[in-house]
Amino acid sequence: MQPIGVYVHFPWCLKKCPYCDFVSFAKERDGIEHERYADAILAELERRAGVFEGRTLATVFFGGGTPSLWAPRALGRVLAGIRAAAGRAVEDVEVTVECNPSSLDEDRARALVDVGVNRLSVGVQGLEPERLRFLGRLHDAEGGLDAVRAALRAGVPRVSADLIYGVAVPAPEAGPRYLAGGPTQEQSPSEAAAEARRVAETGVTHVSAYSLTIEPGTQFGELSRRGRLPIADEDHVAETFFAIEEALGRAGLSHYEVSNYAREGHEARHNLGYWRGHDYVGLGCAAFGTVSGEGAGVRAGFALRYRNVIDPARYMRAALAGEAEVESEEPLDPETRLRERIMLGLRLRGGFDLERSAAEVGTEAWTPSRRRAAERLAELGKLTIEGGTIRVPRNAWVLADGIAAELF
Ligand code: SF4
Repeated sequence: MQPIGVYVHFPWCLKKCPYCDFVSFAKERDGIEHERYADAILAELERRAGVFEGRTLATVFFGGGTPSLWAPRALGRVLAGIRAAAGRAVEDVEVTVECNPSSLDEDRARALVDVGVNRLSVGVQGLEPERLRFLGRLHDAEGGLDAVRAALRAGVPRVSADLIYGVAVPAPEAGPRYLAGGPTQEQSPSEAAAEARRVAETGVTHVSAYSLTIEPGTQFGELSRRGRLPIADEDHVAETFFAIEEALGRAGLSHYEVSNYAREGHEARHNLGYWRGHDYVGLGCAAFGTVSGEGAGVRAGFALRYRNVIDPARYMRAALAGEAEVESEEPLDPETRLRERIMLGLRLRGGFDLERSAAEVGTEAWTPSRRRAAERLAELGKLTIEGGTIRVPRNAWVLADGIAAELF
């Protein structure tokens, strides 16, 4: 049976971070309709239950937003509903909850384990006070490490920490209104490596390290448009990428995806599902889902990508009234699905089997133009071709997205 994942979106955070382009709304914990939101998701799940037919539930991921704000009892009801709909014991399934240090302590971690969660992903982001403040985070450096340690003490079997690097912070002499070209403070590659090492020393089983990206529509995006946001030097960011890789490698965390490191056997299975092009059901407001096969109502080889309504109140009203809570739907043809697999599969250290993926979705792997592009990239040392499998060698990994685009 083909594996399938479930993504559940929880749309609230205590505060909106200035760089964040996820769908999240600032709200106090007491103002959140914990049980009603769970009821709405269970109603949506009932409507979508057919997609589990003939599938094995592999992973459940509660993302957001800040799902560690959600009352564990309500989250547990949703998890139990998913388990019942899929008809498979939850112990076999990776169940992840994204957490912020400001809403995670040992009791909460234990409560999440009690309802069936077995993996926490903690948004540590950094250990320098100025950088955390600049990123709008509510926790301080010790708060991030404390949350990770609390999760480990609570007996969570798999704990991941997120880090953000490539952040330039205005230097104090820049004054309160930073102007492009003004003085900045940037973490050196060796400082970033030391930070990654400290996080690894807590005993985490997984680390995600992302360079800061500036997205339009965010507060940082607007500041950047007006020339008021410091931008980290590109070469510096690339050096930091390799410094973090080396530090985490020495600490026993293997670099298995461009931005992800794991101890053996602790790779993020849910994300591996995305990178390998597996189907996933999205539940909750603003959630995306991609489903194929008979239950999806699309032709053979096609998949259906949908997105739920973004506004939480509208989502809950629609779901609880038994109405469709979908905002948009898009059929993905086989060639589009293969391009997505190229884009995501080349982010993995081992690359991916292009020929098998093409056969799975029912399209041609080696179109003449793709063959030419692959051979050119191979000559430049940017791509390795072994039978039907293609991968980006380590020294070109930071260029993976651009390399993938050349194979479209
Ligand atoms: S805590 Fe995470 S989801 Fe919430 S606003 Fe900050 S970055 Fe976005």
